[in-house]
Amino acid sequence: MRFNDANSYFKKTFGHKMYKAAISLPVTCPNRDGTCGVGGCAFCSEGGSGEFATASSIPVKDQIDQAIGKLSSKVPADTGYIAYFQSFSNTYCEPSVLKAALDEAACHSKVEALSVATRPDCLPDGIINVLRDTACRIPLFVELGLQTSSDETAEWFGRGYKTEVYIDAVRKLRAVGVNVITHIIFGLKGEDKEQMIDSVRTAVAAGSDGVKFTCLYILRGTRAEEEWRSGNIDVLEMNEYFDIVEEAIALLPPDVVVHRITGAGPKKLLLAPMWTADKRKVINYINGRFG
Ligand code: SF4
Repeated sequence: MRFNDANSYFKKTFGHKMYKAAISLPVTCPNRDGTCGVGGCAFCSEGGSGEFATASSIPVKDQIDQAIGKLSSKVPADTGYIAYFQSFSNTYCEPSVLKAALDEAACHSKVEALSVATRPDCLPDGIINVLRDTACRIPLFVELGLQTSSDETAEWFGRGYKTEVYIDAVRKLRAVGVNVITHIIFGLKGEDKEQMIDSVRTAVAAGSDGVKFTCLYILRGTRAEEEWRSGNIDVLEMNEYFDIVEEAIALLPPDVVVHRITGAGPKKLLLAPMWTADKRKVINYINGRFG
């Protein structure tokens, strides 16, 4: 089964391959600082899903230089870069702080697009205005962590906002020229396949331009670890996971881009499912099934 994959989309849009240079800002998340909660989402590690990013105290330009430096020997010479603000909720700050960081990244000579990961409930008007102005000068992606359309499941993992907030966020972002990517997790506690597919339908109906799929990982030190150890959560096997992915892809409109078909948790924290750590095996499987 073929799908509208990110590599093809980037090549068509930018004329060449694009790689992400991961950046950390000194921000936290309302689900960690007490605004919505204190422990974070049940599956989220202390690094706020940004274990691959560099240290947040370094200026944005230097972080980009470092990330590109690490990648440059492995990628073609004409590669373009997306400055990826990955850790925690990158719009959970003053608009002026976000503006300064986005401006600095947009000015970097090798950066052709920006991508900002955040929560749908961290988009007040001042932030939307910054995103609008940025999207006027450089392609801008905003990645929203929906994870599920079920408010019941979201309550279990402590998401801290209702699905309707996500739907409104997609509308506001698209209205100012932002390309929206929605993160969805398959295998959350208590969800059957129908519910997982409903999450994808919700993202499509909301108008999301792209999706990122991953399975639930159990990472060391998270609340999900406790539930997994006490037998309250199962993780998906590789076949089970890709059966769901295949069904999800089948319902996507052709212009919706699949930016990620599966993820890889940070190896030093990963407890399950261990098949996700075997990168070569997963890539071979994906090529055989979706190539
Ligand atoms: S919203 Fe994101 S950064 Fe915040 S706790 Fe949840 S997964 Fe982690």
